Amino acid sequence: MKDRILIIEDNPANLELMQYLLEAFGYSPVTAIDGAQGLEAARAEPPDLIVCDIQMPVFDGYEVLRQLRADPELADIPILAVTALAMVGDRDKILAAGFNGYISKPIVPESFVEQLKPHLVQRGSRSMDGHRTDR
Ligand code: MN
Repeated sequence: MKDRILIIEDNPANLELMQYLLEAFGYSPVTAIDGAQGLEAARAEPPDLIVCDIQMPVFDGYEVLRQLRADPELADIPILAVTALAMVGDRDKILAAGFNGYISKPIVPESFVEQLKPHLVQRGSRSMDGHRTDR
């Protein structure tokens, strides 16, 4: 089974680039263009990993994170923030909020997929009951 990766990103160019890279490297990407759509997609079919922009309409990345962590069926899915941040300390803020990691924009095609891999391996090493199959 291909790993299913949900990308939540309101910038079409970034979204297309990440989708393209994931397909090229053999993953199965699912896309959403705002936080509400992202939550809907995650609930409809829980992904193996979520890549989430911070600044988005409807719900921002922090709200998406909060709602995912509050849902027992989705709470342990790794979530990586993708954002361009100027301020020193923003990375700490993102990790303190509960994101599993952080990828900087602009997306670097040569390293994007490499940055996701550790989080997929981590999940793959867990027992089978990491996934609910009754929905
Ligand atoms: Mn954005």
